[in-house]
Parts: sequence; structure tokens; C-alpha cells
Amino acid sequence: MECLLCKQTSTTKKVRSRFVKVAKYETDFCPIYTDSSINALYYTIFVCPHCGFSYTEDFSRYFPPATKEAIEEKVSSRWFPQHFSNERSIHDAINTYKLASYCGALKKEKHIILAGIHLRIAWLYRITQNAKQEERFLRFALMEYEASYSTGDFIGTRATEAKILYLAGDISRRMGNDKAAIKYFSLVFERQKNARETSLIQMARDRFQEIKHEQRSRTSTASFIR
Ligand SMILES: [Zn+2]
Repeated sequence: MECLLCKQTSTTKKVRSRFVKVAKYETDFCPIYTDSSINALYYTIFVCPHCGFSYTEDFSRYFPPATKEAIEEKVSSRWFPQHFSNERSIHDAINTYKLASYCGALKKEKHIILAGIHLRIAWLYRITQNAKQEERFLRFALMEYEASYSTGDFIGTRATEAKILYLAGDISRRMGNDKAAIKYFSLVFERQKNARETSLIQMARDRFQEIKHEQRSRTSTASFIR
């Protein structure tokens, strides 16, 4: 790899695609791999061992004015040579994502890119069963998805409006904010009247029904206790 920032080259590990077998996806698209010892998620962040700049292949090559200097000051000047090019533990992986989120923020990357990084940190904390940190990063992801939706910075990327709205809904639901979840799922239905993304609409419908079902059972339990 040639580093986007310092242009020096280094090697990085990736999981061979033939070993990446996804058994299923959770409702926020978190992949569950057939072989849990090979987690491709651990290797999506490239960490330059020379300057510390950390990023994904979705980062743009363009650095807005003064952002290179900011990264050099806040990351590179404090960087001691270390590399993440060997096998990564889940804790190494979390650190690489945190580095990428910091570098991405300094580089003023798109909200949609930062949202994806935060969502993945939440997934990794879910694997370690650290609910508090999972929720913390879900909240960051939600803020970035909302910013991406309102600024439209996802246009021209692989993300779509329906997917962002669905994810904002599912993250809200996971954080216990049913009202916001229902608002976002309703927007998925509304904006997708021509039904291009049928599977997403179905997923939004399923989550919507689950919330309604839970709300109904909560009400009936409450009246039973009373
Ligand atoms: Zn570098």
C-alpha cells in the first residue's frame, strides 16, 4: 500500500475473499461469519506504520486545505513507529478503527464515511459484549448518518437514501428510541414509493412491526400489573 498522506509504502493484511463466508447479517447489517476466528472486519483499516494515518479504501484521495497539516501535527508528530500488519486481535481492530475515525474527522471526510466507521466500532464492541461502548458508538454513527442525510454527502457513494434512513431507524431502535425509529422507517416507506430497494423496504417493515408488537406487549403487561 502507498499511504495517502506520506506516500511511503508498506504491507497490510487482508482476509482472502474465499475465506470470508457470511452466515447471516444482523438487522444493522453486521456480518456474522461462519468461521468466527476469521473476521474480515478486523482488516478493513489501513494503518500507515510510518506516519500513523489510518483510513479505509472509501476515503477520498483529496485532502481539503490545512487538513494534511492538522493530521501531521495531531497524529504523525506523536506517532511512534508501530504496525498493525500482523494478525489483529479484536482490541487491535478497535484501535485501528478509532485511529481512522480520528484521522477521518481531521481530514473532514464525508459524514457517510465516518458513520460507517463508527457503526463498525459499535459492532466490534457488540462482539466483546461491551454494551455501554456499543451504544456510545451507535450514537456517534447515528449523528453522522443524520448529518449525511441532511447534507446529502452520500450521493455518489455506494450508500443510498433508503439505506441511511433504514440504518438511522435501526440504530434508534437499538438505542431504545422507538419514536425516532418509527419516524425513520416511515421515511423509508415514503421515499421509496417506486420501490426500487424492495428488500430494504421489507426490512424496514419488519422492524416497524417488531416495535409495534413490543409496544403492544408492554402495554398489555402494564395493564395486567395494574
Ligand atoms: Zn503514511
